[in-house]
Amino acid sequence: MIAQPIQSILLRALSVLVCATITFSQAQCHDRPITTTLLVLKNGTRILYETPPDELSHLTNSFIQQWLELNVCAIEAYYGRFPLKELTLTLKAVSNSSEIGYGQAMPGEMPRLTIYVGTKTPPEGFRSSWVMCHEMTHITFPSLDREHRWLEEGIATYVEPIARAMTGIIPVESVWFDLVSKTPEAFANAASGLDGVRDFRRVYWGGALFCLRADIEIRIKTANKHSLQEVLQIIMKREGTMNEDRDILTVLRTGDKYIGASILEKLYLQMGKTAYKPDLEKLWLDLGIERTGGTVIFHDKAPLAAIRKSICSRSAASCNDLFFQKK
Ligand SMILES: [Zn+2]
Repeated sequence: MIAQPIQSILLRALSVLVCATITFSQAQCHDRPITTTLLVLKNGTRILYETPPDELSHLTNSFIQQWLELNVCAIEAYYGRFPLKELTLTLKAVSNSSEIGYGQAMPGEMPRLTIYVGTKTPPEGFRSSWVMCHEMTHITFPSLDREHRWLEEGIATYVEPIARAMTGIIPVESVWFDLVSKTPEAFANAASGLDGVRDFRRVYWGGALFCLRADIEIRIKTANKHSLQEVLQIIMKREGTMNEDRDILTVLRTGDKYIGASILEKLYLQMGKTAYKPDLEKLWLDLGIERTGGTVIFHDKAPLAAIRKSICSRSAASCNDLFFQKK
């Protein structure tokens, strides 16, 4: 996501308004006038779906609704509920691409998800894409100062695959394969803490490792009775969604207060403020994860194997039947 402080919402709203006004009068911003279709999801969430560009006009409203339902299902499984009643969905076409490459989640009176969709993306590409769930995860967490973007992105990077693995959308192995293969680069040449970093590997996967370490420490401290999942639910409940601006320590202390121990704040001082160098090989060994080829295998006698299993536990119902892979 590109998280922005609330102060900039008015400016953005103004620019959108200007564009919409021009569109209706001169058709300069889009090929077609902007109209919105109201999609009402099973949980009652109202999605204002803007007219897609002509290159994406083959995507039916029904198909888009299934794609939304699939990802809302994963978010609900992780957070217990979807945090918003209304949001706007905008699709941008990427010519000659068969991927859904990235997206943005923007706060506002009507928060907006913008997803960049390859014009040749097959139906399975929508089902397997991480982007919609990643952007929806951003909605669940308050907006922080720019220097702490790594925590916003880290949470979205960590939670998205877990939420989808918990609900059968992707295999558990892919969650751990990505962590094992992508976190080393985030710390390869770390000369500072995560605060203020711009390198996307450090922003996304450095932040994700913060989340993994927090999840493990919470579970060790509480004999696996509590988790980062619960802490993020509490933060969403007490501190609000991305529409709320918060100081990082306020948010982390809310989580620590719930657990009854200073886990998140201490971890932040270590990883956010100092050039932390993790012993990742030991971490994967303790969790019982071995990378082999393009996947991982698990060793259930490892000391933290029970915690590893709990993190992606398939306790939630499958979300897969919400997506029929038809356009
Ligand atoms: Zn993001």
